[in-house]
Amino acid sequence: MSLLIENVHIAPVAGPEIRSGYIRIEGDRIAELGPGPAPVDPGAARIDGTGCLATPGLVNTHHHLYQWASQGLAQDATLFEWLVALYQVWAAMDAEVVNGAATAGLGWLALSGCTTSSDHHYLFPKGRGDLFAAEIEAAREVGIRFHPARGSMDRGESQGGLPPDVVVEALDEILAATSEAVDAYHDPSFSSMLRIAVAPCSPFSCSAELMTESAALARAKGVRLHTHVAETSDEDEHCLAQFGLRPVDYMEKLGWLGPDVWFAHSVHLSDDDIGKLAATGTGSAHCPSSNGRLGAGIARVSEMLRRGANVGLGVDGSASSELTPLVGELRQALLFQRARYGPQALTARQALEIATLGGARNLGREHELGTLEPGKLADLALWRVDGPFTSAVADPVCALVFGPPPPLARVLVGGRVVVEDGELRTVAQDAAGRAGAEAHRRLMRLADERGLTAAKELH
Ligand SMILES: [Zn+2]
Repeated sequence: MSLLIENVHIAPVAGPEIRSGYIRIEGDRIAELGPGPAPVDPGAARIDGTGCLATPGLVNTHHHLYQWASQGLAQDATLFEWLVALYQVWAAMDAEVVNGAATAGLGWLALSGCTTSSDHHYLFPKGRGDLFAAEIEAAREVGIRFHPARGSMDRGESQGGLPPDVVVEALDEILAATSEAVDAYHDPSFSSMLRIAVAPCSPFSCSAELMTESAALARAKGVRLHTHVAETSDEDEHCLAQFGLRPVDYMEKLGWLGPDVWFAHSVHLSDDDIGKLAATGTGSAHCPSSNGRLGAGIARVSEMLRRGANVGLGVDGSASSELTPLVGELRQALLFQRARYGPQALTARQALEIATLGGARNLGREHELGTLEPGKLADLALWRVDGPFTSAVADPVCALVFGPPPPLARVLVGGRVVVEDGELRTVAQDAAGRAGAEAHRRLMRLADERGLTAAKELH
């Protein structure tokens, strides 16, 4: 089965842009693309891309989908204050909460041009069902590629960590469950819809032993490593006080720098830190809206790119970024860099590149995803940039990045339609949204019932 997208402006990220051209898709791959009219192919399905911009599908490299159920809480807190307030609420989540939150969160991502998303799930309260399976099931329904990371925390308050002991797990249990998750779900194939990563949560919630054992496990199984690093200055102080090292130096000591590792945030980096990330091929997920919402700071993205450190984008959990659409993060990243470094700090095309190819590199999939090239998977977004207001902008990439998110004519994942004319086609859109709202109500009810916290007081 072949599909032709015609008369479309193509920003392939790799190679020159095509002002009016075609993309031919065979099966789940891009067969060819080029300028001018599409080749004659009587059996092909056709999409008229007139007035549209085609880009690679956006790749989201940091999220906590369960947090859809705890949006709007602790609105004016620092990261540590916000975490301490919310850990007790999250301790009440169950598989139903996670499935509803993930369905809404992944649907929302698809509606913002995302075709591949990671997720970092690091709370597994006992007796609450199979939370990891619950989010994987949601991703199957929504139909975007999914890279869930089996997260963990083992360093509760009694061990000098930030989270209360009730939300941490024992080291042996974590390693066994993580190993099982990789064995059960990880698909390394080219067309994979599901890959697993290993992701102890952060330096302030995990023991050094968990970090090193997790790295050994991931490397033995050939999967990637992810954690939070250098998000706030509070983390800097915690690491210096507890380990005598700043976060990146601590990660280096634990064997956590390398081309199979990507960090969330990487905000508070020294010149030396940036050099280490670049030299080792360690990636970063830049989450500008979350960093802004929590007042964490502005990452040195333009310096990282200039020095060869890979950067992808992430929306971060829905409770710290609220309803951030992934496409909105291109604009947020561009504005943050320019506010800090001036108008040449990040171009619209660089913002598009980190959102696509940069993200694919973070997930180890730059040979399969992240650009529109023959042989790569047919994951793409068709943005309608001919609206009555947006059509005053002659450059469609400028319209995409500088302006408000344009409507989506299509989102394709492996050639399959996930979004058409701004509506989800794989799941009922209203039901997906309602599942997220119900997950919120259920989580608040469960938290109150358990007496863990007066959840309503967090508003
Ligand atoms: Zn995070």
